[in-house]
Amino acid sequence: MRRKLVAGNWKMHGSLAENEALLSGILAGMGSVTADVAVCVPFPYLAQVQAKLTGSAIAWGAQNLSQQAKGAFTGEVSANMLKDFACAYVIVGHSERRAIYGESDELVAEKYAAAQAAGLTPILCVGETLNEREGCITEAVVARQMDAVIAKCGVSSLARAVVAYEPVWAIGTGVTATPDQAQAVHAFIRAKVRELDAVVAEGLVIQYGGSMKAGNAVELLGQPDIDGGLIGGAALNAEEFLAICRAG
Ligand code: PEP
Repeated sequence: MRRKLVAGNWKMHGSLAENEALLSGILAGMGSVTADVAVCVPFPYLAQVQAKLTGSAIAWGAQNLSQQAKGAFTGEVSANMLKDFACAYVIVGHSERRAIYGESDELVAEKYAAAQAAGLTPILCVGETLNEREGCITEAVVARQMDAVIAKCGVSSLARAVVAYEPVWAIGTGVTATPDQAQAVHAFIRAKVRELDAVVAEGLVIQYGGSMKAGNAVELLGQPDIDGGLIGGAALNAEEFLAICRAG
């Protein structure tokens, strides 16, 4: 039986004061949550989040990492640095990184490998743009993104990873995939993995991300292949985030 995982992606939001208030609010409501919960925060706040969440039921992580282990890579952050702050998770291949920073499928696979080599659980984001959906190539795009990682690290690596299906047209737009639309792609991803390894496929946590909020979480998380959510905007409000966690 897969456990639900609800993870907040704070993106480039927050301050010491705002984070303190947000985390205090979430911690106060965690008693009624049975899902696994995590927050993926900006690098400078990892120490704050570690101090605040150590010993709690909430895990934490980052939103990006370098594919390199160490060296002359100005501005980069390695997987081992994230381990120093007891991160459990790191997001790789978020559509904002693919689109704004030009991250290719191959680079995303290298980052995924670097995360796993350090014992971090990568949250691998995949998903199609609106053009790609309208061109009826959603499955081909998601398959290509998954294949890059499977080619580099093997299907067995997915036993130590989370996949987040995030249709790009639904991220930060207020437009959510319908439960049927999301379920169809989640089922496709699981079936694709099942062709290679049935046990890994059954255990694989596949989150949905894209304007998930309290008002649509119950229906989305009720789908058989939706195992949690990767939450952007709604993760910045304690009550909204908790409501999604309770739906999980
Ligand atoms: C995200 O950035 O991963 C995301 C899903 O954002 P939002 O919930 O704001 O659409």
